[in-house]
Amino acid sequence: MSVIYVDNNATTKVAPEVMEEMLPYFNEYYGNPSSMHTFGGMVEHKIVEARERLAKLLGASPEEIIFTSCGTESDSTAIRAAILSNPDKKHIITSRVEHPAVKNLYEYLSKNGYRVTFVPVDRKGRLDLDYLHKNLGEDTAIVSIMWANNESGVIFPIEEIGEVLKEKGIVFHTDAVQAVGKIPIDLKNTAVDMLSLSGHKLHGPKGVGALYVRKGTKYSPFMIGGHQEKGRRGGTENVASIIGLGKAGELAAANLLDENIRVKRLRDKLEAELLNRIPNSIVNGDIENRLPNTTSIAFEYVEGEAILLMMDEYGICASSGSACTSGSLEPSHVLRAMGVPFTAAHGSIRFSLSIYNTEEEIDFIIEKLPPIIARLRELSPFWKKAQ
Ligand code: PLP
Repeated sequence: MSVIYVDNNATTKVAPEVMEEMLPYFNEYYGNPSSMHTFGGMVEHKIVEARERLAKLLGASPEEIIFTSCGTESDSTAIRAAILSNPDKKHIITSRVEHPAVKNLYEYLSKNGYRVTFVPVDRKGRLDLDYLHKNLGEDTAIVSIMWANNESGVIFPIEEIGEVLKEKGIVFHTDAVQAVGKIPIDLKNTAVDMLSLSGHKLHGPKGVGALYVRKGTKYSPFMIGGHQEKGRRGGTENVASIIGLGKAGELAAANLLDENIRVKRLRDKLEAELLNRIPNSIVNGDIENRLPNTTSIAFEYVEGEAILLMMDEYGICASSGSACTSGSLEPSHVLRAMGVPFTAAHGSIRFSLSIYNTEEEIDFIIEKLPPIIARLRELSPFWKKAQ
């Protein structure tokens, strides 16, 4: 079956260049990078290279990069490190639209001795900065705000927030899992203390991530074990995947300008044509300030899951809300936090493109989707009532 994959915020295809670079490290150069022998050293130097490549993508120093097993581990490590380093501070802040990797940890902490502030967003998914600033206190241990939202694609003002937090001496973590590789990031010019990223969102492999920890930031490891990662993350390195992540970072840096302009053009075409051809369709989120690859469109009075199933028959892969919440029929917490009305939230579909999408694929979706929505609306009592 030919697949038209526009679900790249859920996961991405591993780039062929990434695969190629990883393969020898499964069964040819399979040494342990910690070993003293030359064979192990042949692996060690590739990990050094991966760290340098990733650091370059982020405007960081290689020693500020810690490899982890995924974005979720990076988020957990950062947040736990901040609270362990500030044991007297019992207040923590995040936004209401974080990925479950942050949201669910904050909810856990709220039941275990922490006072949590969830900063709201407006109808366009923009963060309420005044609310954030008003809630900063002497006892705030950490603020964790995502760089870009995985569902709406809305980008948050990380540089601005960082400046305020730096002045107050509050640890600032950002979940940049969706931002890295899609928009330029230069950590030298921001006051971010810790940043999480994940390999499988930028054409690297699954099961590998990284945490940036600014030099001088108080840190304690989450995975306590061996001396790997300078004692900051125990466990034998996932060698091939780390090498793949490094390569993916290098490719992302090279593609950041040209390819993302092409992706944005395709995204804009898809969005404009769907809005034009399908009545009662609305974009969720701030169209002025979004990731170049993402559009979340609400098709009112139809069920998102039904749309997904019918698109699936044509091999079109998209997502209703976030991939992690599909399987449940509740509208996503992100759309609810944005105040998207029930009839629109239920029919919201996220299209997230990548550098591998073609104009023909976009044209195919533009052709197939309007009749799908029309057919579903014929069956919808809500649609009939609204006419
Ligand atoms: N944070 C965001 C914003 C995400 O979109 C995701 C994955 O969807 C994660 C964290 C979790 O990353 P991982 O799947 O690598 O654990």
